[in-house]
Amino acid sequence: MVAAAGLVEQEAGRLTELDSAIGDADHGTNMQRGFAAVVKTLESEPPATPGAVLVTAGRQLISTVGGASGPLYGTLLRRAGKSLGEASEVTVAELQAGLRAGVESVRELGGAAPGDKTMVDALLPGVEALGTSLDAAAGAAEEGALATVPMRAQKGRASYLGERSIGHQDPGATSSALLFAALAEVAR
Ligand code: ADP
Ligand code: MG
Ligand code: MG
Repeated sequence: MVAAAGLVEQEAGRLTELDSAIGDADHGTNMQRGFAAVVKTLESEPPATPGAVLVTAGRQLISTVGGASGPLYGTLLRRAGKSLGEASEVTVAELQAGLRAGVESVRELGGAAPGDKTMVDALLPGVEALGTSLDAAAGAAEEGALATVPMRAQKGRASYLGERSIGHQDPGATSSALLFAALAEVAR
């Protein structure tokens, strides 16, 4: 979470720039505010297990981020955290199962299918590639984010633009790739 907050901080300008093209120019600040709150809470009350870290982080994102991405990422992390249960250590396979359940919750909440030009387009390939390695997951999520460029947005604010959303990379898919990059970086 600390690594994620660091990368988000570093890339906030780019996330907001992407959101200014097809949204309302707040994705970077939304993510920054959310992850700063996550780190602050984790530092003041360190949870005992990886699952509790994710549940706490998810709850913070939901309560501090006003935009669509807050409840979506918050739900993902909470669901993933619950799936990890009380275990004090988790394997990559368990993390993958947890994140898979989390991404399912994002799809239930937001109704986005693959190809709709949302975070789901980076999250799904990222989670699937976790079966290979954390580096593979980061690469697949990055590719998924790049693949949103030619898509026409079907969900979220960008969908209001219709055809004009084509040719721009989705901000949420881009932040999802950053989160996988943070995970790979920490594991290294
Ligand atoms: P807002 O659009 O409310 O300003 P953000 O700018 O923080 O929120 O987040 C925008 C991102 O959220 C989009 O780029 C997209 O990836 C994601 N998003 C929006 N709506 C949905 C949805 N229904 N399902 C999945 N992801 C979504
Ligand atoms: Mg926005
Ligand atoms: Mg907004």
